[in-house]
Amino acid sequence: MPNSATPTHCPYCALQCGMNLTPGSAGGVAVVERPDFPVNRGALCGKGRTAPAVLSSSVRLTTPLVRKAGVLEPASWGEALDRIAEGLTRTRTEHGPDACGVFGGGGLTNEKAYALGKFARIVLGTSQIDYNGRFCMSSAAAAGMKAFGLDRGLPFPLEDIPKTGCVVLVGSNLAETMPPALRYLTELKDNGGKLIVIDPRRTRTAEQADLHLAPRPGTDLALALGLLHVIVAEGRTDEEYIRERTSGWEEARAAAMAHWPEYVERITGVSVPELRAAVQMFCEPENAMVLTARGPEQQSKGTDTVGAWINLTLATGRAGRPLSGYGCLTGQGNGQGGREHGQKADQLPGYRKLVDPEARRHVAEVWGVDPDSLPGPGRSAYELLDALGTDIKSLLLMGSNPVVSAPRAAHIEDRIKSLDFLAVCDVVLSETAALADVVLPVTQWAEETGTTTNLEGRVLLRQRAITAPEGVRSDLEVMNELAARLGVEKGFATDPEEVFEELRRASAGGPADYSGITYRRLAEENGVFWPCPTPPADSADAVHAGTPRLFLDRFATEDGRARFVPVSHRAAAEEPDEEYPVLLTTGRVVAQYQSGAQTRRVDELNAAAPGPFVELHPRLAERLGAAEGDPLAVVSRRGRAVAPARITTAIRPDTVFMPFHWPGEGRANTLTNPALDPTSRMPEFKTCAVRVEVAGK
Ligand code: SF4
Repeated sequence: MPNSATPTHCPYCALQCGMNLTPGSAGGVAVVERPDFPVNRGALCGKGRTAPAVLSSSVRLTTPLVRKAGVLEPASWGEALDRIAEGLTRTRTEHGPDACGVFGGGGLTNEKAYALGKFARIVLGTSQIDYNGRFCMSSAAAAGMKAFGLDRGLPFPLEDIPKTGCVVLVGSNLAETMPPALRYLTELKDNGGKLIVIDPRRTRTAEQADLHLAPRPGTDLALALGLLHVIVAEGRTDEEYIRERTSGWEEARAAAMAHWPEYVERITGVSVPELRAAVQMFCEPENAMVLTARGPEQQSKGTDTVGAWINLTLATGRAGRPLSGYGCLTGQGNGQGGREHGQKADQLPGYRKLVDPEARRHVAEVWGVDPDSLPGPGRSAYELLDALGTDIKSLLLMGSNPVVSAPRAAHIEDRIKSLDFLAVCDVVLSETAALADVVLPVTQWAEETGTTTNLEGRVLLRQRAITAPEGVRSDLEVMNELAARLGVEKGFATDPEEVFEELRRASAGGPADYSGITYRRLAEENGVFWPCPTPPADSADAVHAGTPRLFLDRFATEDGRARFVPVSHRAAAEEPDEEYPVLLTTGRVVAQYQSGAQTRRVDELNAAAPGPFVELHPRLAERLGAAEGDPLAVVSRRGRAVAPARITTAIRPDTVFMPFHWPGEGRANTLTNPALDPTSRMPEFKTCAVRVEVAGK
């Protein structure tokens, strides 16, 4: 219990709003404003404001659970940990190390994500580790790597947004996902800047726009190509910049020129005059930004789609210049840090590549193991979940709830049920934890110290404010205990700062270099932007200041030039047909977070967003004979979900929208298509073909 205010950060989204925690009622904590933190300047959304309710929730787990005769029963920590060690050992002995899977989460702190990657590779010796961040932003990460040689969500701080001339916001609904960030767009407009929003729905964010373009779901790649075509045709490219700072323009230009505005209009439904208006708005000011989020990313062509939007910034000379550029609005709380330090199937800490011999040597030395003992890259998240019960027999899962959040969720639920052994660490009995053989109750944000990295690449310190309830342990303690039971006595510290010190060494010299960052600095400064290397011994600077703005002098490619990637439109993996004539797109509502495992436990949030719904246009409703609130059955090739109708002109007549936060009958992910992007392995959450009917008619 804090005697005075403890500065910390929200447990939910990638904005990582600063907040102070003070003593609250019933021995808990209360959230109060922290205006000195520059990202949110005191503002919080309802999720952050009510986050302490989950700490003291009546459904909070405070004792381990072990399945006996088919029922989860309370057990001691010793018994529960022994059961996990036995389950994993049996699998390893009978089927080999790769039959043990590990699944992490974008909400885990950097320390936990780092330790989990290390645990998988040197304790279990498995290559089969990935995390739910793969479902969040991996297409933008892959496109950023291709174009710039480096992936950091925003290569500039949010504070630059109001100072630019135009922002093109693609597939992002900030008003619902991170409301305090909306003020950056309001300030942009107050300063005379323009806002273009690309979204199939007229969202609360789109309502703020000077221009809203509503393409058919799955066609924003064509839209970006059409815009580039118009830019070239109108002579609005920056030839000097293209010559000096990029490569690959001719191929990208040729690909764009095949996408005539009239052709793009037919594909997207966005008219030629709208395309020309967008180009004028984007090209007129000296500076402009393109920001993407889940809309373009969660597609089976997400990497190409984001690449097409990046090409726009390169062709107009906007990337790597002050107050201009491309950025991805990462979603999960530590979606950025979680993808940098080793829980991703192909990565080692510091955003190093697992296939790079020098990276393996460096990290193996920090870990005190033979580089040859490190496994190679494993399966991506969906592929890993799809292999459960066949190639992968046991799973250790931390900070994720794939029964609700994975695509084709009924199938994934079946795969999870077919495992020989499942262990889950969580704070409540999530829908996935309820299927486990062992559930371990772990600490939450306010009960533990650790670092996260927000969507700007700003590394932050979340400080412990209260003592965890009796019976609860941290994920780091869990890994320490399990490692010891599996024969690795050293190397899994339980003190987060000690783990961070090791992470600093492991990341040193890598693309995401944290070696110059310390807990002391993070406590004193409002975060430090990576890369932040340790200055050389002969440097006049005692510390590196961090890097708020990337690419101003050169890009992180070998030749320092940004790379155009030639891309062409292709259809979504599933297009409407006679049997499934409507498009489904999925997304979020302001009062719930991801699979809802935490936010569905908060009364105030449930009152605001009690359950799923199907948003549809009045014309479609009339065709179906549906009235407001009628139960609608939405059927795809993967299953059927039922939720009440919400009729609005804010959506295209050919599309329905469902939020994905709920399990059960209204689970949107029962319907979604796991078609994967070939590069990022991101599933196509954002579009699939469905049939809609009034349930029971
Ligand atoms: Fe801020 Fe996101 Fe938390 Fe809301 S959920 S308070 S926007 S960090």
